[in-house]
Amino acid sequence: MAKYDYDLFVIGGGSGGVRAARVSAAHGAKVALAEEYRVGGTCVIRGCVPKKLLVYGAHFAEDLRDAKAFGWDVPDECAFSWERLRDNVLGEVDRLNTAYTNTLDSHGVEVILDRATVTGPNEVKLASGRTITAERILIAVGARPHVPSCPGHELGITSNEVFHLDKLPERVLIAGAGYIANEFAGIFNEFKSKVTLINRSDVILRGYDESVRDRLLQISMMKGIDFRFNADFQGIEKLKSGALRVSMSNHEPMEVDLVLFATGRVPNTEKLGLDKAGIELDDKGAIPVDDDNQSACKSIYAVGDVTNRVQLTPIAIREGQAFADTIYGGKPTRVDYGCIPAAVFSHPPIAGVGLTEGQAKEQFGSVKVYLSDFRAMKNVLAGRNERALYKMICDSETGKILGLHMIGPDVPEILQAAAIAVKAGLTKADFDATVALHPSMAEELVLMR
Ligand SMILES: Cc1cc2nc3c(=O)[nH]c(=O)nc-3n(C[C@H](O)[C@H](O)[C@H](O)COP(=O)(O)OP(=O)(O)OC[C@H]3O[C@@H](n4cnc5c(N)ncnc54)[C@H](O)[C@@H]3O)c2cc1C
Repeated sequence: MAKYDYDLFVIGGGSGGVRAARVSAAHGAKVALAEEYRVGGTCVIRGCVPKKLLVYGAHFAEDLRDAKAFGWDVPDECAFSWERLRDNVLGEVDRLNTAYTNTLDSHGVEVILDRATVTGPNEVKLASGRTITAERILIAVGARPHVPSCPGHELGITSNEVFHLDKLPERVLIAGAGYIANEFAGIFNEFKSKVTLINRSDVILRGYDESVRDRLLQISMMKGIDFRFNADFQGIEKLKSGALRVSMSNHEPMEVDLVLFATGRVPNTEKLGLDKAGIELDDKGAIPVDDDNQSACKSIYAVGDVTNRVQLTPIAIREGQAFADTIYGGKPTRVDYGCIPAAVFSHPPIAGVGLTEGQAKEQFGSVKVYLSDFRAMKNVLAGRNERALYKMICDSETGKILGLHMIGPDVPEILQAAAIAVKAGLTKADFDATVALHPSMAEELVLMR
């Protein structure tokens, strides 16, 4: 008789957990996976996917306006149905949820829709009461939105709820200045809500290249988004009218219809029982793991946002794959965290890979910076006064590209291809040796001065 019920028990059916469970089962392991909400996890159910679909939906506001200059007769005020977009997006989420569940089923992974907690190095307990043993446990429980503990915070919502709104708010206040805050500021603004973004510090998108984030701030303000900096949340109060009155330090209180907290994400480790396996969390509540995703308890591993290394879907997926290949595939694999491309799906979007100018100067002393600051051809004809900015940071001796940062139409699509070259260690000269593809925006990459 087998010593354990399963070879592997995965807690969390998101990007990392699903990949690890499916590949481990394909390698021959007997696997079960517990998911307390919906298979697919944050990315599919309430993150990247529904957000990107809303970004597409929002962008039509500009495209419809620009269409006139291209000869199309479009009414000045186009009607927009939030309910229709929301329901179509949620329908797509349902489709993906089914597809992810089917993939696990077809690989022989037993899916248990229940909350699981750790009760020992080889044991988990389901909320329904069942106790299960496994030779190894993989924690892939992700992260959740952090909400500041001010009076009335329960009157606000987070990215978990934002995809389900009954109606669009006329006035929305977004707390935070990271990528999720800026993406939703762009989305609501295009849908004609009055958007105010408030932040504790005086910068947006900390960690992104300064020139591109300054450009986004300038364009966002031009589009009508208000920013309030050095503002600490003090409280939310519901008024008789149904509106919310928000108080903050250094600024007058304001009345809005919706408060969206985008104030960071914290690992989902609360009451997970990790102490029962002798695992101590770090000061952010994340599970410390080694390069092979193994925790201080040898039978327990962790991947994805819960480890707070890089909170992005492709990283969680790679960590899940590396875990499965290393443990069950006889192919030891480690994730390479160098040169990870990332994007902000704001209006216009930002994309970057490698070091920012500030980081490069700190590490290398002197660096060479090349810029292309231009107005996309399409924007010129449309009379849209919005400039794109591409920035390349190179080692001043070798010309090796250390970082590439862009803001402008379609830059996430353009950057993914350019990131291959940056990752491969190519130089500015290699880019210049490539003939421009004309006319395109991407050709600016090989024409920078
Ligand atoms: C609004 C938003 C937009 C985003 N946009 C992007 C983007 O554009 N690009 C990008 O790369 N990343 C994006 N992300 C981040 C991305 O979603 C995460 O990095 C990714 O989902 C992490 O995968 P994971 O497997 O670690 O965790 P998750 O995908 O969060 O999965 C964890 C799962 O575990 C379940 N769970 C938790 N506790 C338990 C328990 N005790 N028992 C059973 N189940 C449990 C949860 O319900 C969840 O389904 C976004 C996130 C948000 C919130």
